[in-house]
Amino acid sequence: MENKPVLKVENLTKHFSVKGGRKVVHALDDVSFEIPKGKTLGLVGESGCGKSTCAKTIIRIHEPTSGKVYINDTDISTMRQKELKPYRKHIQMIFQDPYSSLNSRMTVHDIIAEPLQAHNIASGKTATEMVHDILFRVGLNRDHADRYAHEFSGGQRQRIGIARALILKPDIVICDEPISALDVSIQAQVVNMLKDFQTEMGLTYLFIAHDLSMVRYVSDVVGVMYLGRLIETCDAAEIYTSPLHPYTQGLLSSIPIPSPKAAREKISVGIQGDIPSPIDLPPGCRFSTRCPKSMPICKEQEPAMLDAGGSHCVACHLYNK
Ligand code: SF4
Repeated sequence: MENKPVLKVENLTKHFSVKGGRKVVHALDDVSFEIPKGKTLGLVGESGCGKSTCAKTIIRIHEPTSGKVYINDTDISTMRQKELKPYRKHIQMIFQDPYSSLNSRMTVHDIIAEPLQAHNIASGKTATEMVHDILFRVGLNRDHADRYAHEFSGGQRQRIGIARALILKPDIVICDEPISALDVSIQAQVVNMLKDFQTEMGLTYLFIAHDLSMVRYVSDVVGVMYLGRLIETCDAAEIYTSPLHPYTQGLLSSIPIPSPKAAREKISVGIQGDIPSPIDLPPGCRFSTRCPKSMPICKEQEPAMLDAGGSHCVACHLYNK
């Protein structure tokens, strides 16, 4: 039977008015993707490419300018906050900075139990038992429940953030750079824990990171974003060996290679220059100001996202036959 998407995003767009409404920040433009149950989409791109705006627009921290967000076939993009509440427990978020996302004046118990009470799922002794259970499952223990966030290391704080996200048994978890702020030695532990929870609970992940190496071991499909647009999507196994978009090729070539011999043999197609302002977008392809393969048409027409064969979809005139 076909594995239906648990999360589907259609033409999602988020613009912010600035300078008294005279200018528009194109934070997110026309982004579409879907994630089947139990799978992971890794979303990557430089800072400011719109990946975190995408996450916040999906969960309605930002209101979408246009486009749709479906959770299990239900469009939540235009629901009023009251209608939205029951759907919020299906989609939870793990944030990049576990310290600022945890209330410093609440105990760990209260932080993790809060969503249970907000959704009328459990309170009192039952809620406490559920908190102790999830603490154990993220590698902490019941003694940690009475402490405050500042008493923990960065890795432990991220475990608390994961416990808070998972206590509601969501269908979808948006992981917004969950390992970027952690020591390298802790990153693998957190990734492995997230993978174990995915297998155990059938979770569907949108996993956001700023470089391709971070999503390599967690993603089934990888999406690459540039200046608010999705510019390439592909099965994770294929994107690392056969990237099509010049920007994806540049991102991959900037990943350090541990072997000096392999590094010497690697052909660098690094990305030059700075990312343009999302207020003054370049005409045509948004990557044309930095692309080593830019052609005249690239400065005139914005390329559409097209099927490029295999599992690839790419927005680039090089493949627009
Ligand atoms: Fe480069 Fe042109 Fe492709 Fe844009 S459309 S990535 S400028 S070749």
